[in-house]
Amino acid sequence: MASITLFQNATHRNILLEDFGRGQAVQANQHLIVHDGAGMILDPGGHRVYTRAMSESTALLGDGELKLIFFSHQDPDIIAAANGWLMTTEATAWISTLWIRFVPHFGLDQLVIDRLKAIPDEGMRLDLAGSELLVLPAHFLHSPGNFQVYDPVSKILYSGDLGASFGMDYQEVRDFGAHIPYMEGFHRRYMASNKVLRAWADMVRGLEIDTIAPQHGAFFHGKEMVRQFIDWCAELSAGVDILPPFRIPR
Ligand code: FE
Repeated sequence: MASITLFQNATHRNILLEDFGRGQAVQANQHLIVHDGAGMILDPGGHRVYTRAMSESTALLGDGELKLIFFSHQDPDIIAAANGWLMTTEATAWISTLWIRFVPHFGLDQLVIDRLKAIPDEGMRLDLAGSELLVLPAHFLHSPGNFQVYDPVSKILYSGDLGASFGMDYQEVRDFGAHIPYMEGFHRRYMASNKVLRAWADMVRGLEIDTIAPQHGAFFHGKEMVRQFIDWCAELSAGVDILPPFRIPR
C-alpha cells in the first residue's frame, strides 16, 4: 500500500499516509494537508508509527514546514507520540480543552509544552498558510471532548473515530451496504447515543462534503456515498440507547 492523494490542486494537497499499523495495534490512518508548503498532520498516531509517519510527512513537505498538529481526542493511537512531533518541529498542537492537562502524562518536554493549545468546546477555525480549516465539535463521538476537521478547499471531512472500520482489505468504500458489518459493532459500542449522532448529522448536512476520511479503515468518496454514511449515522442506535443493565460479575 502506498500513500493516497485524496485531493490536489496547484497549492493544496491532501494525503492519506500509508497504513503503518501492523500486528496487535489497531490499524490507524494518518492524514496530511499541505497548503502552499505549510503542513498539518491529523491524528499522527503513537510510537509504533512515529518514525515512518514523520519521515513520510517530511518527505512530502519538501522545503515546506509542519505548522499544525491536530488531535481529534485523547486516545493513545492519536497522541502517544505528541512529544516527538513537538520536539522535532515548530508546530502548534491542538486538542480539546478537556484533555489539555492529560496529554503531559505521555511525557511532554518543558520546551514544547507552550505549543500545546486548547480547542474550546464550541470549535474554532485554524489558519494553514492562508487556508482556513474548520474545527467542528463532535463530542461523544466517541470521546466527550472530540473534534473533526473540515477542509473547504478539498471538501474533505476528517471524521476521526466516526466512520471507523476494521478488518476489510480495501481503502475506499465502494458498496455502502456491504461495508456496514465492518463498522457497525464499533459504532454501537463506542458512540454515545443516537441523539448525538443526529446532532452531528444535522451539523454536517450544512457542509458540502466530497469525502469523509476516518482515522481507521476505509474512506467514503462521492456525494452519494457521503449522504449514505450520514443517513446511516442519523438512524443508528448506539451507546446508552442500547446499554444492557449492569450486573455484578460472578
Ligand atoms: Fe478513539
